[in-house]
Amino acid sequence: MSVSGLCQICESRPAQERCPNCGTLACEQHYEEGLGLCADCAAQAQPGRETDETDTYQF
Ligand SMILES: [Zn+2]
Ligand SMILES: [Zn+2]
Repeated sequence: MSVSGLCQICESRPAQERCPNCGTLACEQHYEEGLGLCADCAAQAQPGRETDETDTYQF
């Protein structure tokens, strides 16, 4: 899929994908193909980040 416009995260590179979760346009550096999400959503989807939910694991 190709989209037109700039990456809405860095606003300096042409967008390659649109995040299906939040709709953000993301360049290849800000789109996690493995997850199919933009960098923002990928960061939220990945455990072990700086959150208050260190003891909460939901599977
Ligand atoms: Zn970008
Ligand atoms: Zn997103």
